[in-house]
Parts: sequence; structure tokens; C-alpha cells
Amino acid sequence: MNEPILEVNHLKKYFKVGRKAELKAVDDVSFAIRSGETLGLVGESGCGKTTCGRTCIGMYEKTGGSVLYKGKDVHVEKKQHPLALSKDVQMIFQDPYASLNPRMTVGDIIAEGIDVHGLAANSKDRKEQIMELLNLVGLNKEHANRFAHEFSGGQRQRIGIARALAVDPRFILCDEPISALDVSIQAQIVNLLVKLQRERGLTYLFIAHDLSMVKHISHRVGVMYLGALAEIGPSRELYRKPLHPYTQALLSAVPVADPKVEKSREIIVLDGEVPSPINPPEGCRFRDRCKLAMPICSEITPKLKEVAPDHSVACHLYN
Ligand code: SF4
Repeated sequence: MNEPILEVNHLKKYFKVGRKAELKAVDDVSFAIRSGETLGLVGESGCGKTTCGRTCIGMYEKTGGSVLYKGKDVHVEKKQHPLALSKDVQMIFQDPYASLNPRMTVGDIIAEGIDVHGLAANSKDRKEQIMELLNLVGLNKEHANRFAHEFSGGQRQRIGIARALAVDPRFILCDEPISALDVSIQAQIVNLLVKLQRERGLTYLFIAHDLSMVKHISHRVGVMYLGALAEIGPSRELYRKPLHPYTQALLSAVPVADPKVEKSREIIVLDGEVPSPINPPEGCRFRDRCKLAMPICSEITPKLKEVAPDHSVACHLYN
């Protein structure tokens, strides 16, 4: 098993709201990502997964805890060696429409990292690198002189991927890269990311709210609820036998390809709304919506506990 490349320890990210209140977007989250693997991070919108991802790569200051990338504190590196960090750690954005500069040609967008890091020996080398990257993501060399608005959503996301790959990174935060795309295009982008990972030994933190796509790309999956991890485990095991009542509810809503299984699928409907992260419930954050809640659930916050190899859950049912 590979060594962790990213270690997240008791990470907290709070935002000030008004004069006194704090929005606890990420509250005591710990996990590790091994070199060459994909960790999928899922949950409903507003659960803190994007904030968690962005804090992990130093885009946001942390409120507490630590994030180590290759053993070094990301938030220290971000201040002291920002170029070195951005050479290794890149991001693919959710919105391929908004994340590409409409005034720049596709070639110049892709070459931004090459220019910043001085990775091209001369303009011929720069051009060759752009062509190679376009080819790598399934675009062609004629695309280099065009502008982002001339492309479809899927093609724009391919440009975003080429831009991220231009500096030959080791780790990529994929921040809901397929959410804005048509379902038919989503699979193409996921397949491209899987292929690139295999060819280049990339490590991904893949954030999404669509559980069916996450299953295909992730080696392990973490489920977030209201700023905290409810469950984390190997993808196949978590999908086959989810342990946390929240994971069970989320997965019950995912359609199954097998018509027999699909017919017998029972959807678990969650009552109520997600509580406010400004004032999360005492004890288990999920207790107001959990049909299995017990008295202890309102008194003690369940800690993430390993209940099977590499599979941890934060729920008193497993104490
Ligand atoms: Fe439900 Fe209690 Fe488990 Fe929370 S700790 S998920 S309320 S059973």
C-alpha cells in the first residue's frame, strides 16, 4: 500500500458570520490520501466538502488542525514556497464556463502554468508542450488559437484539465469537475481522469455530490455531513454495505443498473432539513434526521472509529 501523500488532521475551517457567530464549514475532519489513489468526498450541497478540499490545498486559511502534503504543512508552504506548492498541487474547477479567461486563447490558458514556472526552453518548446497537452486531453492542435466560448462544456473541462496538467503535478483537487456537465459527458471526463491517473501516477481528491460517478473513479469514499465526516472507507465496501444511517440514505437514492435489484430498491427518505452549520446540534449532527437515534446521540458527539480494515464510521450504533 502506498504512503499517504496528503494527511489531514483535525482540520477546522470556520467563517465569521456577523459580529459573533461562526459558520463551521469544516469541523474536525481527519483523513489521509495515499499516493496514486482517488479519494471521493461526497455529501449534499453545503456539507463543507468544497471548503474542505480548498482548505486542504491551502486556498483557504485553516481555523485549526493541520494538512501535511508530502510531510510538509500546506499552509506554511503556501506562504513560504507558493510556487513549489502550485507546481505539485493543482485544481480542476467545477464550472468550466467561469474558470477559463474569455480573453485568452486556449493555448495561452493552458500555458499559464508553463510560463509561471518557466517550464519551456523557448517559444517552440512552449508550443510543442501546448500541442502535447491538447492531444493528451482529446483536443487537437487547431484548438490552441481559439477562445473558450467556442467550445462545449465537456471540451472546456478538457481545457481545464490540460491547464492543470501543464505543470506536471502530483496531486489534483477535482472540485465537482463534472457537476455542470450533461450526464453523457460526465462519463467521458471521468474516464479521461482515470486514464490520466494511470498514465501519470496522479493522486486525486475528487469532490462530488453525484454518488454514482464517484463510485467509478474513487478507490475510497468519504461521506460528509454538516462539516464532519460521517463515514470513510473503500469504495466497493462502502457502496455494498454502507454503515452510517446518512450514507445508507444517500445510497438508497442512487439508481442501480441491475433491473432486479433496482425493482427491490427501497429509498430511505430523510425527514427535515440539514441544520445550520452556524449552530449545529449537540451530540451527533445527524440526530434530528436519524430514524435510529438513541438518547446518547444527543449527548455525545460520535467519533470516527475504524470498524473494519480501512473503514471508519462516526455513529454510536457501532460502539
Ligand atoms: Fe443516528 Fe445516533 Fe448514529 Fe447519529 S450517532 S447516526 S443519531 S444512530
